[in-house]
Amino acid sequence: MNSRRSVTFVSVILVATFAALIVWPRAAMTQQDQTPQKQQTPTIDEYQPKSTLVTKEHKIERAKFPFIDIHSHHWNPTPEEVDRLVKEMDTINLRVMVNLSGGTGEQLRKTVAVMKGRYPDRFVVFSNMSYDDLNAPGFGKRVAARLEEDVKNGAQGLKIFKEFDLVFEKCAELKIPVLIHIAEPSAFFDPWDYHNERWEELKEFPGRTRPPAKYPPFETLLTERNHLFAKHPKTNFIAAHLAFHGNDLERLGKLFDGNPNVYVDIAAVLAELGRQPYSAHDFLVKYQDRVLMGKDIYEVNEYKWYFRALETRDEYFEYYRKRHAFWRIYGFQLPDEVLKKVYYKNALKLVPGIDAKAFPE
Ligand SMILES: [Zn+2]
Repeated sequence: MNSRRSVTFVSVILVATFAALIVWPRAAMTQQDQTPQKQQTPTIDEYQPKSTLVTKEHKIERAKFPFIDIHSHHWNPTPEEVDRLVKEMDTINLRVMVNLSGGTGEQLRKTVAVMKGRYPDRFVVFSNMSYDDLNAPGFGKRVAARLEEDVKNGAQGLKIFKEFDLVFEKCAELKIPVLIHIAEPSAFFDPWDYHNERWEELKEFPGRTRPPAKYPPFETLLTERNHLFAKHPKTNFIAAHLAFHGNDLERLGKLFDGNPNVYVDIAAVLAELGRQPYSAHDFLVKYQDRVLMGKDIYEVNEYKWYFRALETRDEYFEYYRKRHAFWRIYGFQLPDEVLKKVYYKNALKLVPGIDAKAFPE
């Protein structure tokens, strides 16, 4: 290359570079200036901000202590399903699973046989009431008799939605707890508008709304429920889902104070505790004898959120079910003694026939 040609060559490069320097930043700037205006406002589903927070994470795959899941559902499982279940339970330290969906009569017998019959130490089966003959006279008596028969056939508790005096007295006599699901989250009773914090869930499941034209109000249900707890002081009740007071722990505390026969599980309401880690910690320490571990819909990979919230002080982590909580949650690190009670000691106290020797002191 002679010197003249190389000068020309260099100047061509310089011009090109110069042009790029002038044009490119301008193009970049223009794009930057325009982007926010051009972009439409995302919908609530589209807006998925990635957290930039850098903080310590403890992903706990296995509970620190063996635990009892007081709130699970398995309808007519096959032997193969139960075998797989036990293998999965072992991976997360789930020692005893309580199946609330045992049914009654023949179905209960079959469920007990396939679960408890094959793994006596690993499963507890609760019976359910059949409402088929609800309108024929003497229903309460028949149900109480069926329950007695179910208990003889291996049922260790009752899962129920409604109030039946004779049945609850029978549970006290048989010394089995009643796991009771009354009401729904209070937001389901509120208008489905942009102020409703369960807006997404109600969009996905419109049938979960409880409009006043069709359903009794939240407060009425709770008044009836509290009346029921007071009326049967010898019956132990486990109110499912933090008794739907997870968003008002002070109120739940008052319910406990007034009713020594009332307990709760934390199934499917972990996000309520996780959004108030200080209050949740203090509440669980204060009422450590009244709260039980439960998960509700079984999915082996979702328990780790419970472990992480109960056992660590991790901050601002994503929840596993967006429709329950658009917010992130925080761990509230319970002391070991409290953790043991929530994980298994309270369930051992309430549910007859679980082998306590499988659990630490
Ligand atoms: Zn459930």
